[in-house]
Amino acid sequence: MAKIAINIATGSLQQPEIIVGIDLGTTNSLVSIIHPDTKKPIALKEHDSSSLVPSVVHFGEAGAITVGEEAKKYLITEPHNTVFSAKRLMGKSYKDISDNASFFSYKVIDDGTDNLVKVQVGDKFYSPIDLSSFILKELKHRAEHILKTPVNKAVITVPAYFNDAQRQATRDAGKLAGLDVLRIVNEPTAASLAYGLGLNKEAEKTIAVYDLGGGTFDISILKITNGIFEVLSTNGDTYLGGDDMDNAIVKYWLQQSGVSEDELKQNKELTQAIRLKAEEAKKHLSLNDTFTAELNGDALSITRADFEQLIHPLVDKTLACCKNALKDAGLKTSDIDAIVMVGGSTRVPAVKNTISNFFGKPVNDSVNPDEVVALGAAIQADILAGNNKDVLLLDITPLSLGIETAGGLMDVLIPRNSKIPNKVGRQYTTQVDGQDSMRISVYQGERDLVQHNRKLAEFNLTGIPGMPAGMPKVEVSFLINADGILVVKAKELRSGVEQSIEVKSQYGLTDAEVEQMLMDSIAHAKEDIATRALVEARTEGEQLLQTTERFIQKNAAHLTKEEMMETAGAMQALQLAITMEDKNLIQTKIEALNDISRPYAERIMDIAVSSAMKGKTI
Ligand code: AMP
Repeated sequence: MAKIAINIATGSLQQPEIIVGIDLGTTNSLVSIIHPDTKKPIALKEHDSSSLVPSVVHFGEAGAITVGEEAKKYLITEPHNTVFSAKRLMGKSYKDISDNASFFSYKVIDDGTDNLVKVQVGDKFYSPIDLSSFILKELKHRAEHILKTPVNKAVITVPAYFNDAQRQATRDAGKLAGLDVLRIVNEPTAASLAYGLGLNKEAEKTIAVYDLGGGTFDISILKITNGIFEVLSTNGDTYLGGDDMDNAIVKYWLQQSGVSEDELKQNKELTQAIRLKAEEAKKHLSLNDTFTAELNGDALSITRADFEQLIHPLVDKTLACCKNALKDAGLKTSDIDAIVMVGGSTRVPAVKNTISNFFGKPVNDSVNPDEVVALGAAIQADILAGNNKDVLLLDITPLSLGIETAGGLMDVLIPRNSKIPNKVGRQYTTQVDGQDSMRISVYQGERDLVQHNRKLAEFNLTGIPGMPAGMPKVEVSFLINADGILVVKAKELRSGVEQSIEVKSQYGLTDAEVEQMLMDSIAHAKEDIATRALVEARTEGEQLLQTTERFIQKNAAHLTKEEMMETAGAMQALQLAITMEDKNLIQTKIEALNDISRPYAERIMDIAVSSAMKGKTI
């Protein structure tokens, strides 16, 4: 039964809020929702048109921006004003893309630095975030137009290998487009969801997601346990896809007709026309054995057998990536429970057959491979909206997260198996008088000493105003958002100086590595507890030595000679004990020093209090 909410303040009926799923692709993008009646995911489209919106942005004369099919028409005629594949630039500097600079027919600014790239169109500059936001805005409008309701919330997918900067850039693009991005989801995770994989909480599955699109190829190996998706490995080729199949057909036809590639290049219109014919042939051959057509009076033909021969090296390249991905995940083909096909080029029968033979089982190809990621994003959106109470797609932290404290100890802020998102804060202070900076080192792992754990990041909180040791209050907070991005912030509360850093915490460790780290922590538990106790005793001893020394320097005039001698002796004994491996000995020496200093410390405190009352300080 559908629930209807009533706004108590206004008495009006409230529509359940729509959260859309968006596949922001390199070549095409699309938006989808869960159909309110059928409860099945559908890709949104206007009437008979395609659900795919080409990820192309055209900048017109009078500043008009068009996106999609309209913009695609200008790719050949106005290459400088027409931006495609902006996704390839997300979170990248010019240095990152310089090897492939010739791929972009528009102007990508080369400032020779590590700064994020910008694209120049006319006299204006656009960041990849701006460009992606134009595409997202178009999808938002499309959804609003079709659904006749405002759309403000979305789940957006990104490749599993996207790093923090690229995920954050995608999120920012959503914000710019007026969308509240509730979650960034990995494309292979979304594709698996569209096949219902991971929706049954009991099932444990290992999945290979094979994604061959127009210009990119990705293979991801995922593991699902208790509704939690983990990326075990990813591999691929960012310049391999259906476009290469089209080019192979073009070359084949040129060879047959004796036209050289240089000759063809002279004629832009013919180049475009022949490319379109090649794509048509490729699609036709997915269902038929031969293709014949005519172009400017010349006959063009190709058989499926010839085509398969042409693309053989290309498909082989994808197989090599699959092998690498399996190797990185430490798995064999027989460990894979399901293979999910994504991307228009997986419609090619030779691709399907080769992959199915490689893994030794049939592939999942019943869902439209162009839409499967967006459909999965809609399922995730529906879960987030709370409409699918049976499933709780949770992510958890596989290992504890913490920082290094005195003596190289691991201070855990977020224990392993915590749900994410999560936020924790804890206060720390300085160890030395006048200490004006504090190093925050972030670690992941279960061992008591950070040296046995994995360092994720490190930064310095600088500008702490000079204060005696123990006075500054530094609050360190860990925030893991739902996308698995950890933000560590340190703030000195008295002065307000602060510093933060983003860390990618979820990926990068294979299952085997996580397991090994856990096993190590169990194997070394006893020894770790002893080490921690020793380190804590040493730290306490060192701190006591420091405060005592400072106290004596300041109050030497008020101490007797005996007191001085006794204190020096006890300090020496403690100093020596600290160098040894005996925690009990250190504790005994700490107590001994305290026993000696307590009487005169109290006496001096009294003097201080009485002189303060006379308006003087000592
Ligand atoms: P995507 O990037 O996932 O949108 O994939 C687009 C690619 O899929 C393009 O190279 C298309 O030519 C290709 N494609 C779409 N339909 C078919 C089909 N029926 N047979 C072969 N390739 C196709």
